[in-house]
Amino acid sequence: MELLTIGAFARAVRLSPKALRLYDELGLLTPARVDPLSGYRLYSPDQVERARLVAWLRRLGMPLARIRGVCELDPADAAAEVRAYWAQVEADTAARRSLASFLVEQLSGEDNTMTVTLKYAVRTDQGLVRESNQDVGYAGERLLAVADGFGARGEPLSAMAIDALAGLDTAIPAGELLNTLADAVRQAGTAVREYLTANPADECSGTTLTAMVLSGSRLGLVHVGDARVYLARGGRLFRITHDHTAVQSLIAEGRLTEEEAVSHPQRSLLVRALHGKAVEPDLALHDALPGDRYLLCTDGLHTVVPEERVREVLVSEDEPEEATRRLVELANAGGGPDNVVCVVADVVPA
Ligand code: MN
Repeated sequence: MELLTIGAFARAVRLSPKALRLYDELGLLTPARVDPLSGYRLYSPDQVERARLVAWLRRLGMPLARIRGVCELDPADAAAEVRAYWAQVEADTAARRSLASFLVEQLSGEDNTMTVTLKYAVRTDQGLVRESNQDVGYAGERLLAVADGFGARGEPLSAMAIDALAGLDTAIPAGELLNTLADAVRQAGTAVREYLTANPADECSGTTLTAMVLSGSRLGLVHVGDARVYLARGGRLFRITHDHTAVQSLIAEGRLTEEEAVSHPQRSLLVRALHGKAVEPDLALHDALPGDRYLLCTDGLHTVVPEERVREVLVSEDEPEEATRRLVELANAGGGPDNVVCVVADVVPA
């Protein structure tokens, strides 16, 4: 096959030679041959498709490492990966939009927030395999929280983490919401550390903690660990938290796909949790719009029940109570390998 000069190839794929040189340096598109004398890059006509894919993914804003991963996949898996990436971008953008509008209100002194309330249910279940239940949940008028204890000392720790947040189930001014949440998680972390110092164990013990607090028409979110928060809005399901697992870091770097992660042997290895050491929680603000439904759940649910099934339950069940019951049923129908706790909360006009 006749090789193309970088100029001819650039014209064929409508990219600049400069962009092609960059892709080469980044390992995204290696020329078919580099002339040893002149150093000129030469491309094969069958590299056109890949060059176009790289260009589109760059335009989409996908990180380079992840683009490299997508290029290695067959088209069906690549499509799934692009879909997963975009769902995450939309969720992250929604959180930033919410923070931006909050700042605009604060700075301009306007308050056009509408008051909403929550209609909620919480359900926990030991599952079919574990000998105790170390998952704890809480749902109240303003506070929603789940915690997943792990290790020999996990059981009291998840309850302690939830207790440390209990004081947040009250009216907190929107301007103080995120700082208050950060303080509460710090207190929870201190309680865990003190307990582990007084009751040392060989096995690493700790708890995850994921919570939302309603203030006006905003929900403050604090998150450490691998429980998840999903938002069902307009029939679609958005995951609005990132798992603090080693596997999730590999996905972010493009070294593992979402599909591969499901069966990864170390999928539950946490990189962040309350386990006696300093920890930086994720903090975010979300708009609470009437009609929104939030799900907070531990990994006992989301590693067992596929997201599409979760979505079906959340969009089809009218009552939060019934939705939590069906979600726990699905986790147990999937073998119930772990404890599970889930909180479902509907945003309703006040
Ligand atoms: Mn668990």
